[in-house]
Amino acid sequence: MTIVKTKEKHHFQAEIKQLLRLMVNSLYSNKEIFLRELISNASDALDKLRFEALKQPELLQKDSELKIQITADKSNKTITVSDNGIGMSEQEVTDHLGTIAKSGTQEFLSALTGDKAKDLSLIGQFGVGFYSSFIVADTVTVKTQRAGSSDENAVEWESDGQGEFTVTSIRKSNRGTDVILHLKADEKELLDDFKLRTLIHKYSDHIRFPILMVKRDEKGKETHTYETINKATALWIRPRSEIKEEEYKEFYKHVAHDFEDPLLWTHNKVEGKLEYTTLLYIPKRAPFGLWLRDHKHGLKLYVQRVFILDEVEQFLPFYLRFVRGVVDTNDLPLNISREILQKSKAVETIKSAITKRVLDLLEETAQNDPKTYAEVWKEFGAVLKEGPAEDITNREKIAKLLRFSSTKDDQETPSHALTDYLSRMRFSQKNIYYVSADSFLAARNSPHLEIFRKKEIEVLLLHDRIDEWLIASLQNFDGKSFQSVAQGALDLGSVADKVDTKERAKTEEEFKDLIDRVKKVLSEDVKDVRTTERLTTSPACLVADEQGITSQMERILKAAGQPLPTGKPIFELNPHHVLVKRIKSEVNPSRFEEWIHVLFDQAVLAEGGHLKDPARFVQRINHFLQELAWVK
Ligand code: ADP
Repeated sequence: MTIVKTKEKHHFQAEIKQLLRLMVNSLYSNKEIFLRELISNASDALDKLRFEALKQPELLQKDSELKIQITADKSNKTITVSDNGIGMSEQEVTDHLGTIAKSGTQEFLSALTGDKAKDLSLIGQFGVGFYSSFIVADTVTVKTQRAGSSDENAVEWESDGQGEFTVTSIRKSNRGTDVILHLKADEKELLDDFKLRTLIHKYSDHIRFPILMVKRDEKGKETHTYETINKATALWIRPRSEIKEEEYKEFYKHVAHDFEDPLLWTHNKVEGKLEYTTLLYIPKRAPFGLWLRDHKHGLKLYVQRVFILDEVEQFLPFYLRFVRGVVDTNDLPLNISREILQKSKAVETIKSAITKRVLDLLEETAQNDPKTYAEVWKEFGAVLKEGPAEDITNREKIAKLLRFSSTKDDQETPSHALTDYLSRMRFSQKNIYYVSADSFLAARNSPHLEIFRKKEIEVLLLHDRIDEWLIASLQNFDGKSFQSVAQGALDLGSVADKVDTKERAKTEEEFKDLIDRVKKVLSEDVKDVRTTERLTTSPACLVADEQGITSQMERILKAAGQPLPTGKPIFELNPHHVLVKRIKSEVNPSRFEEWIHVLFDQAVLAEGGHLKDPARFVQRINHFLQELAWVK
């Protein structure tokens, strides 16, 4: 058959060139994984064909036994991975093997450092796929025929992985794809029959389609028959007790297109009103693009073992979008579409069961293996924090999974659960206290904490942007409500000593005049002025009105471009502070004003706020400093 079209040259998308170079360098010590990746792609292609054949059974005609075939050719030094799956049209070949369509590609590439070890783990998170062929091959040829098209309409793709590839029309006598690796000179050992079989067992035993290799006789000579190397059954339908840990791990890499082992998994078969099997995984690392809007996520859906759809979001709430795996059910029709999934009652039921399973898995891990749970929290804590707002039914369950920093140990890494906080609460304490700020240091050093530290009352240190929202959506935990230490009048409830209350009344009386004078000076800036017992070392601080919002929340709203409720803060003075006492006796009205403005601006700064007139603040401070220098 004559070739219909001459060779056409194409350039890889610029990113691919960079990716290829890095991949070959960083993955060299794991070079064997190319086989796993190619077999995984072949298996996906078979799944897709079987799915299309539901509507077009003629696609399966003449070649109905779906299989993957591995051939090693010693004289030509090639390894070929063949499948009789869906194949690719010319357009699909240039699209799929010339560009990377993954979300987060740009972020991925800019995160690469050139440091081998770091890049290796980044590439792992991103996934390697087809391009891993170039770790062992200096040229790769792909011959493919799209299911449903004719033998004359096949395509050949070829590249040396240096930046260009060619596409040629060819004749191919069967449906599907052959990936032919022309091995690099020093990779000949991969041609060894035993070696290949070992690799297939190790990485691809879980593949549910048969992986065939030519059978050899007792003398090791090739025969004309083929034999199946792998188990060739769907892993998730096998009983849990028979599945090895390694098999679970390799299966994960296949479904999630991940390079690393998963962190946790849970495998369950449900029989009852609905019948379904789920195998759910928590990855070790957040994939690239987890925070992008168009990030693809979700589970692989099978109906009665037939692959139906990839990345089905409907089985998971959004805050569990990092969970990967499969769901296989007998209770959905084979011709189900994404649109119908959205309205299905069965899907809703399975979704809530899956949600519960994942939350239970996380809870168990948190209890029995805190070290592993710390890893989960590090990678996915920020996503889980979206949970209480999205999933009211499971609010309490999710709340138990949250981790915070706390004044208990002043550590930046959040490790304290709310239940731990409750167990440490003072006998008569009514609220869960928290302070929130833009950074951990600002939270830890907040003047609002002074009295709490003195009285040894634990306060949660919130320093993640989303934390204020989180607290607002939680409302309370185990009957205790959350109380910002920077909001409202200080109410230590019955934790406060009786003596405190008496003394307070006395001081208030004593400072009444001062407070009135301060109010006049700051009438534009504050809602109220009062003395406070919450400070021990700072002279003053700002607090939000009980009904208002905290200043951290105000900054978040501002950054999000939300309209702000115009609430002025309350200015509180520490009556025991030497500066405050000194100012109290200041008779010169203009000096009094200067002092008050300095204290006010300091209070704004201490909680990470912005001054209206920073230059004026500096002038005032310098003025006082100069006086000090003069005295000396
Ligand atoms: P991934 O598998 O993670 O999507 P790859 O780089 O491995 O990324 O493959 C890119 C795309 O090329 C696949 O998504 C698929 O559409 C196509 N592809 C790869 N191998 C095959 C194959 N054997 N048969 C059909 N299509 C394939």
